[in-house]
Amino acid sequence: MELFENAFERAFRAEIRHFLAAELPGSLKKKVMEFQRLERADFVLWHNTLADHGFAGPAWPKEYGGPGWNAMQRKIFDEECFLAGAPRLIPHVNMICPVLQRYGSEAQKERFLSRIWRLKDWWCQGYSEPGAGSDLASLQTRAERRGDVYVVNGQKTWTTWAHWADWMFCLVRTDSGKPQASISFLLIDMKAPGVTVRPIISTDGVHDLNDVFLDDVEVPVSMRVGEENHGWTIAKYLLTHERTDLAGVGLCKRFLHFAKQVLAPRMEAPEPADLRLRDRLRELELDVKAHEWTVLRVISADDHGESAGAAASILKIRSTELQQAITALMLDCGGPQSLRHLRQAREVAWESGPGAVLPVSAMQHALAAHYLDWRKVTIFGGTTEVQKNIISKTVLGL
Ligand SMILES: Cc1cc2nc3c(=O)[nH]c(=O)nc-3n(C[C@H](O)[C@H](O)[C@H](O)COP(=O)(O)OP(=O)(O)OC[C@H]3O[C@@H](n4cnc5c(N)ncnc54)[C@H](O)[C@@H]3O)c2cc1C
Repeated sequence: MELFENAFERAFRAEIRHFLAAELPGSLKKKVMEFQRLERADFVLWHNTLADHGFAGPAWPKEYGGPGWNAMQRKIFDEECFLAGAPRLIPHVNMICPVLQRYGSEAQKERFLSRIWRLKDWWCQGYSEPGAGSDLASLQTRAERRGDVYVVNGQKTWTTWAHWADWMFCLVRTDSGKPQASISFLLIDMKAPGVTVRPIISTDGVHDLNDVFLDDVEVPVSMRVGEENHGWTIAKYLLTHERTDLAGVGLCKRFLHFAKQVLAPRMEAPEPADLRLRDRLRELELDVKAHEWTVLRVISADDHGESAGAAASILKIRSTELQQAITALMLDCGGPQSLRHLRQAREVAWESGPGAVLPVSAMQHALAAHYLDWRKVTIFGGTTEVQKNIISKTVLGL
């Protein structure tokens, strides 16, 4: 494993930094850096800027028009984007694209891939159900084959951005046999009759999540990916991509940088509480460095053709634990004024100031909502407990 970047990688980093300095709109950067909520249009704008430069799908192979970057280049790109304050890549793009590229029919690739490259279609993930989260294989949504269509009935839940989505990739039961051997992977048009989306408001007061009800929704058989009843293999393939994408080194570094900036002026005449915050910050900086080395080890294994295996679960646990510890530190650095949870503080139009509820900056008010928002990361993409089960089975052989 290489701990230091070589000349090629340093030049690549400089190229990405230059691209971001030139192309990332100041208004978008401000929103991201000040913890404002991004709208669909913000993501579309940034995604298309990336597409113009060939960067919209960092993991896309060259044969599909992607940059063909190796794992190290992807890590550098990811890190520089986070540090610069760019909006994150839409996670669903990184989930459905590898699936279509590997398992999709030619017609599906033809129809969807170029539209995803330009974010003309927004996708959501229809895996979880009220009784099937960690135990995904127990899902109950049924798809009954009638001629050229499946008729789908059931409920999906926690579906991120379903209210913005044009399409949903969805796991459905197509047989009554063994749970894992009776699931199929369907692509469902969110405008089809029988699809109803109902908001779920999360703990930070925001609407990202939804319930999706499917009542007699007709889905053409041509919208099934892979063979009937072979959806479990595809579902697992997609989840590995989801977890590897969650390494988040750049994000952790940006958040630590924020905490450092807030603490810096207080270090001239620090109170004991400030010194304790500084110690936490230093400890977390070391933890992020160690996490980064684990990421580099995984990348190095990848270069040698070894599969990520349980490493994806290890990275998921560690990065999300760090993100939660760092967002807690950020909140504490903001001081007592930040503890008040003002949902509207993350809306762009909202300004604190003279006559406002508290005489502190909008950014400081946003920290509590930001902290609450980050509690979710140890749940989605597979909970920490479930990742530990995977590690114990694959690494410890238990
Ligand atoms: C913000 C957010 C966004 C999400 N977005 C989506 C989305 O877009 N699409 C989608 O399909 N899903 C989405 N999810 C759902 C997510 O995948 C599930 O919440 C997750 O898989 C856990 O399932 P559950 O909520 O049903 O909890 P459960 O599976 O009911 O788990 C409850 C608790 O029991 C523990 N537990 C469960 N089984 C075991 C076990 N075998 N051993 C040890 N402990 C166990 C869990 O760790 C957890 O602490 C999202 C979730 C969140 C929070």
